[in-house]
Amino acid sequence: MRFGTALKWSTATATVKIFTKFPEAVDVIGHEMTHGVTQNASALIYQGEPGALNEHLSDVFGSLIKQRLKGQDAASASWLIGESVIIAPDPLQAGQVCRGVRDLLHPGTAYVNLAFGSDPQPDCYANLNKDPADNFGVHINSGIPNRAFAMYAIAIGGNAWDIAGKVWYQAATASGLPAKATFSQFRATTLATAQAMASTTVPALIAAWNAVGVM
Ligand SMILES: [Zn+2]
Repeated sequence: MRFGTALKWSTATATVKIFTKFPEAVDVIGHEMTHGVTQNASALIYQGEPGALNEHLSDVFGSLIKQRLKGQDAASASWLIGESVIIAPDPLQAGQVCRGVRDLLHPGTAYVNLAFGSDPQPDCYANLNKDPADNFGVHINSGIPNRAFAMYAIAIGGNAWDIAGKVWYQAATASGLPAKATFSQFRATTLATAQAMASTTVPALIAAWNAVGVM
């Protein structure tokens, strides 16, 4: 995710410190550790949709680690990543939002109108970011599968790590995802995995992927 590469952000008028408390952000730490798992368990290239799937997996398991530690079930979890790491303007101005780095359930709403911009994540495939920057949006388009996962977990109910997390882990690590896996291919992989592991949840999973426009 490269959380650590921009401790300060220069604007036209000032250099503003924007990140703090990384060691306290267990979801950010979990995000980075998951990259190690993904790197060894799959061949996903770090560009375009497979790169965004790589980022997505890190967001999912980073969030699940935090939810498990805090004892949050899927319904009560905030689904934010990095709630403590952006220093909010004090006071917040009208139109500014500063809740965290990302929001899995509501991509694109974690921060708005801060010195360095607004949360750029789309929440549906129709709004897929195609700009070449950021390896074709690996940190941006991850919002689309992020929302699908969160919706699936909430629809199942209970703790997200009990069923949804296990389906995702199995799909990501044991299914031989191709190096250039698309969102659509990952959808199919998660459906096959859910069919085998938790077949009663398949309708909720189909609904979640449909909701973000990944067919
Ligand atoms: Zn990452």
